[in-house]
Amino acid sequence: MTEQLPVAFVTRMRALLGAEAEDFLDSINQSPHLGLRVNTLKVAPETFRSISPFSLEPVPWCPEGFLVTSRDRARPSRHPYYAAGLYYLQEPSAMAVAVLLDPRPGEYVLDLCAAPGGKATHLLTRMQNTGLLVANEVVRSRVSTLLTNLELFGARSILVINETAQALAEHWKGVFDCVLVDAPCSGEGLFRKNPIARREWSPSSVEGCAARQEMLLRKAADLVREGGRLVYSTCTFSPEENEAVVAYFLRARGDYHLVEPPRFPGFSPGRPDWIASDLARGLPLERCVRLWPHLTVGEGHFIAVLEREGSAPRAYLASHTAALPSKISHLVETFWNDVVATREMPDSGWYVSGSEVFWSPVSPAEWKGLRIVRTGWLLGRVARDQFVPSHALAMTLCGADVRRSWELGSDCAAAISYLQGQPLTSSGPEGWVLITYEGYALGWGKRVGMIIKNHYPRHMRWS
Ligand code: SAM
Repeated sequence: MTEQLPVAFVTRMRALLGAEAEDFLDSINQSPHLGLRVNTLKVAPETFRSISPFSLEPVPWCPEGFLVTSRDRARPSRHPYYAAGLYYLQEPSAMAVAVLLDPRPGEYVLDLCAAPGGKATHLLTRMQNTGLLVANEVVRSRVSTLLTNLELFGARSILVINETAQALAEHWKGVFDCVLVDAPCSGEGLFRKNPIARREWSPSSVEGCAARQEMLLRKAADLVREGGRLVYSTCTFSPEENEAVVAYFLRARGDYHLVEPPRFPGFSPGRPDWIASDLARGLPLERCVRLWPHLTVGEGHFIAVLEREGSAPRAYLASHTAALPSKISHLVETFWNDVVATREMPDSGWYVSGSEVFWSPVSPAEWKGLRIVRTGWLLGRVARDQFVPSHALAMTLCGADVRRSWELGSDCAAAISYLQGQPLTSSGPEGWVLITYEGYALGWGKRVGMIIKNHYPRHMRWS
């Protein structure tokens, strides 16, 4: 990489790491690790490993995570399995965050800084698509990628929101079993992947990030229920954005403590000795986790697992009990019976907004007043007296779930042609068909005569 490391960064890391600094600085100039995390909602990790066209090595702390060791690093994002949502490309250290947050099926989980969705998709799979995952992103332009990634994974029990931490804290005080603050940071852990991170770094950006992180963590703390978990993570090395943020937080919030997380190979302890001794005194900051690029198979990361004291019963958000409105029920039912058939249609939780038809995990009253981007599982829309299934619905199905599918087998070229927007030729009943590759859904097509018209979303088409 031609972009030099910032001098002030190198000076600081030499002062902190001493004899270790040269190994660390060397590692930053090597090529980054490429990781792949399997979508366990669609395929078991061992099954994926047996069909994977790329060579994979396990990530020690994440059973569904792999290091891609193939030389051709471009291939994983250009394979039909990617379009089928079988995996997310995520570097291994980032996989440690959802592992340590450890959300359980049925829980209410908030990802406060969620775009582009690496950790949110991981939380979703760990929750087995149950309970409620609220994925929030404050920067509007980043929300659509977050949504695309969640829907590619087959998300149903989600709300995608575009709000400030302040607005959420006022709205959902004490509601969540788990909250993740994967904070915006100075990005030192990205220096080896991204030259822009090197260019944009400055000592004042570290200071500014630390102030914002303290604010985010304070707001997030209000959202966690008694006895719930709060995880704070960054992809930077600076103690000001890591141990110091956690220390200020613990001094302000006596109802939280740091949890000792499982120590996987390659996890290093937090460094209380790198922040002011008055601030660190008496706090078990070594319970934080640091992942170092020269000591592990991933990029730099910092993770602190916090737990709120108390045991008040958890809040329950009202579930949504509405049936499908009668004026469109026959359209949706006809589609379901003709095409899906083998899967039960939801009998309640229907929510219709304009022409769009959703299943919602909670009552609309629960999100009233918030800037909501996705209100659960988008099944489709009604247009010209017909039900048009959504890509999000396709991504929750597989060939075995539907009566009408068109299987491409292992024909990679045919799958790519479909993903590029080309029509297919096939005979069979007219109407909607799920296009599948080795049984995994790629999207919808609509058969008219001998042609299946391509309904793969235009904005996602491969070039
Ligand atoms: N969790 C994401 C993932 O795994 O894909 C990465 C999150 S990234 C480290 C931090 C995110 O915080 C960015 O998407 C950024 O837009 C967002 N952000 C920036 N300022 C924020 C603020 N004041 N409050 C909440 N989020 C903010």
